[in-house]
Amino acid sequence: MHPPLSYDLVSEDAPKSLIRIIAHENFHEWNGDYASCDPTLPEGHCKWFHEGFTDYIAYLTLAKEKIISPEAFLAAINFRYHEYQANPVALTATIAQMEKIDIYANPDYDHLNYRKGLLLALLMDIEIRKQTHGRSSLFDLMKAVVGRYSGPEYYNNSKLRQTVQFLTKSDWKYFFDHYVEGSMAVPLSKYFHVKKNKSAEIEINSRDESNRKLIESLID
Ligand SMILES: [Zn+2]
Repeated sequence: MHPPLSYDLVSEDAPKSLIRIIAHENFHEWNGDYASCDPTLPEGHCKWFHEGFTDYIAYLTLAKEKIISPEAFLAAINFRYHEYQANPVALTATIAQMEKIDIYANPDYDHLNYRKGLLLALLMDIEIRKQTHGRSSLFDLMKAVVGRYSGPEYYNNSKLRQTVQFLTKSDWKYFFDHYVEGSMAVPLSKYFHVKKNKSAEIEINSRDESNRKLIESLID
């Protein structure tokens, strides 16, 4: 999918946003072209992974390559977090519903895949690093997904869970049942100090030292 040009303008100039779109579309070569979701399933089944994880990897790669600053990386996460909070179906939409409806005729559902998907990618990146004591990260999960599902086998949510469980040697049932398949609020406050901003939106506090260290550890 090609998002509209304004889709992820954060606070930087248009050329950098164009770079973000190029990074996103470029990563679809791996997550979408080489490895892709089972085409016999409705698109809503794993669009959260197809779009949200592509978006997260795009931002993270740009930060790693110092094309955007750690502050801009965090601002992008907060931007998506605000969109997630403003989405009227964020706390009710399940994968079972996503599979049943026409997501293009219901843009709140379609957009949620990008917003919530990016937040789930962030949390999975943190959890994979924690569970493997820093030996693996979301990049290793993506490599494993591309390695396993670049044909003739496709991925689905159950296979994605098996792949992360194999990588971390731990059980991801709760995470998949509640945050991926279910509609439980994405628990950013478990990892970050969050606070309300002037618009009464909850966001990751950019001035907090532990938040800054965690963000920098993802980029390093
Ligand atoms: Zn996309």
